[in-house]
Amino acid sequence: MVKRTCPLCGKTWFSCAEQDPWNCQNCGFLLTPDMNENPEERDAENQHDGVPQSFL
Ligand SMILES: [Zn+2]
Repeated sequence: MVKRTCPLCGKTWFSCAEQDPWNCQNCGFLLTPDMNENPEERDAENQHDGVPQSFL
């Protein structure tokens, strides 16, 4: 499941087609895979011991 926000009308959409472009159902804008955002997930079992991202 992936989330994309339409830059044109601001609506958010969810789809399982993470690798495919799809059109905004509101305004028809083409939402491409590089616009993928992670939907809010509760992956309690998937706790990685990773380093937090830093943008310094
Ligand atoms: Zn739109």
